[in-house]
Amino acid sequence: MQIEHSYSTLPAEFYSLCAATPVAAPRWLAFNHELAAELGLDAALCETDQGLAIFSGNQQAPWSKPLAQAYSGHQFGQLSPRLGDGRALLLAEIIDQQNQKRDIQLKGAGPTPYSRRGDGRSALGPVVREYLVSEAMHALGVPSSRALAAVYTGEPVYRDQRLPGGILTRVAASHIRIGTFQYVAMLQDVPALKQLADYVIHRHYPQLQHQAEPYLALLRAVCQAQAKLVAHWMSLGFVHGVMNTDNMTISGETIDYGPCAFIDSYDPHTVFSSIDHQGRYAYKNQPAITQWNLARLAEALLPLLAPDEPSAIAVATEVLNEFPALYQQQWQQRFCAKLALTPNAANVVLVQELLDFMAQEQLDFTLTFRQLSDSLIGALSPEGPAAAISNTAPYLQWHQRWLQQLQQDNPNRDLSALQAQMHSQNPFFIPRNHQIEQIITQVVQQDDLSLFQQFAKALKSPFSATASNAIFAKAPPAGGPHYRTFCGT
Ligand code: AMP
Ligand code: MG
Repeated sequence: MQIEHSYSTLPAEFYSLCAATPVAAPRWLAFNHELAAELGLDAALCETDQGLAIFSGNQQAPWSKPLAQAYSGHQFGQLSPRLGDGRALLLAEIIDQQNQKRDIQLKGAGPTPYSRRGDGRSALGPVVREYLVSEAMHALGVPSSRALAAVYTGEPVYRDQRLPGGILTRVAASHIRIGTFQYVAMLQDVPALKQLADYVIHRHYPQLQHQAEPYLALLRAVCQAQAKLVAHWMSLGFVHGVMNTDNMTISGETIDYGPCAFIDSYDPHTVFSSIDHQGRYAYKNQPAITQWNLARLAEALLPLLAPDEPSAIAVATEVLNEFPALYQQQWQQRFCAKLALTPNAANVVLVQELLDFMAQEQLDFTLTFRQLSDSLIGALSPEGPAAAISNTAPYLQWHQRWLQQLQQDNPNRDLSALQAQMHSQNPFFIPRNHQIEQIITQVVQQDDLSLFQQFAKALKSPFSATASNAIFAKAPPAGGPHYRTFCGT
């Protein structure tokens, strides 16, 4: 096991050393053996008593040097100058089998100097959700933090009610956020800001090290990474739910699966989070919010971008203004690929027409694309989505045009090859909200892990139409209540 503690070489104001607070009666909930192998983790940690003691915070591993990271963040547009890891501890960085440095972090391991009024703990339900959804996102191909372990603490946490507690061990390329830069920028310590930027370039964007203007290149690279990430979310109907600047990583990975959820029937205005009254983080707003967040990153970086502020603002604005086109390009690629079309402006019109039908007819986002893939094999009969559409004539015309374009764009591929290609872009199933809720209820209220384990296994292959996956592919019963998520802190 190759361990480093590079984050603690940054100036002292970036973090606080802090030990985990032991819990009463830890018990394993889940352990991710595949990820453990990827990380080259010692066998002693893999679902053993020693591992349980370490991943519940009851024993400090000799290889760990736990610390809480400092960061700020715009939460729903309001700046909180001092957030930081209020309930998370970075144990160590591990060099994985691909020679990549990854953070190992406990989430819910007790109070830290950044806990403010919080208890530093997590309820079990959100631990279960983050474990499953982050692993599903990874299997869907989306850059994401991963879940290595989940434990029951054997202690209650008090929210609006008494709930069982849990701790998640998560793994990420790093936990450096836009908010980390905002925090250091606010200290007005330019050498420290430069140290952070250099650290990030070295860790995440080493190709930029020798550029003439490495910090501007860093801003551009983060814009690219986030454009790509958010277009990927959009293509799967994923709503993050709390895109505060402290929850958006510099690496371009998805983190913080609090109130996230996937769209069932397609409505671009969908909001799930119970506290998002204005719909700031609605599905359709995610790209614009990403650009807003990137502007906060640019502001933080200003002292490094040019010798004087007006010039720094000018160059930063130029980079930020590239974001809409960058995002559009990523979106085009993702959505055209979902329909096996060449990404271009004419095909985007076809995509948009389909999305308009889907919104009008409240079609299920995931099932519609999958059924379109399958409609290829029924030759020209567009079964599937058509059955659910009230006025099928415009849809059938659309389907005809799509088939023509499909064949024009893919002259040498037969329909079954195209179906397979589309299957690789359109998941057979996603972590549906009603299923996640059912699993959480079983784990939390009935102490029953059977469905959790079945789902954790299935979600490793979300593109495969196997019998064991089929039970998770169904849309929720029609007419159910609108799904609401809670931050779960
Ligand atoms: P989130 O929106 O979950 O990313 O959390 C926002 C901020 O609140 C972060 O600084 C968290 O560390 C902190 N926080 C959330 N829940 C708790 C808790 N139970 N105890 C202490 N701090 C918390
Ligand atoms: Mg957070």
